Amino acid sequence: TNGTFVDNHRIDRRLLRDGDKIQLGRTSIIKFTLTDATELRFAEQMYVSATQDALTRLNNRKYFDEQFVAEFSFAARHRIPLTVLMIDIDHFKKVNDTWGHPTGDLVLKVVARTLAKILRTEDIVARYGGEEFVVVTRGIDKGNSGLLAERIRSTVETLSIPHDSGDLHVTISVGTATLENTNVPSRLALIAAADTALYRAKRRGRNRVEQWSDTDPMEAPPSPTEDTNA
Ligand code: GH3
Ligand code: MG
Ligand code: MG
Repeated sequence: TNGTFVDNHRIDRRLLRDGDKIQLGRTSIIKFTLTDATELRFAEQMYVSATQDALTRLNNRKYFDEQFVAEFSFAARHRIPLTVLMIDIDHFKKVNDTWGHPTGDLVLKVVARTLAKILRTEDIVARYGGEEFVVVTRGIDKGNSGLLAERIRSTVETLSIPHDSGDLHVTISVGTATLENTNVPSRLALIAAADTALYRAKRRGRNRVEQWSDTDPMEAPPSPTEDTNA
């Protein structure tokens, strides 16, 4: 509709040369390059290191933030449910303090691998921060998101992580927020609602799932001074 341009010339048909920039519409530019296997591998490695978390091999926060923009606007436009699950390992600081950081790292890897195994390939899963993970699912309502969150929680609870001084066990708390009615003002509000639900799970004793959807009233965010480590 808006024409196709190669090197700023509007074209109908043209043979591409190495390095040509093809412009589609106003905002998309594709670069055509002839590349050998080494260059290709290098480009792939660059992509992986830009989008993946080195420790857990899950998607990184930057990748998640970019994908989530598209997911949220698609879901809102087509009125498809979208759920954010915020997952935080309980008392993780104690794991580090008791067994050391390398063991903490191992726990993070095992939990990450478990998440990746449980989820469908079309779900987005990422390491959101230190010992926090985020999952986004499409097309399932609050009830089914709750079942998924519960399955994740109980699977992590039964993990036995091998360690020199006996097997380690960890638990997670999960907060879910579901966009059901497109009644959520913004994607950041959906994330904030999942965070608030997670905070509630911590406050109510950890190793549990708390949920919110846009048919529920919006809760005030937790006060940053409130102590949850009790
Ligand atoms: P809560 O149940 O309230 O979540 O308690 P918590 O101890 O898990 O929470 P807190 O936020 O106090 O501690 C999180 C810890 O996670 C602190 C930090 O040292 C650790 N951490 C963050 N990133 C990494 C990492 O990459 N490796 C290791 N080993 N530890 C990490
Ligand atoms: Mg945390
Ligand atoms: Mg934690």
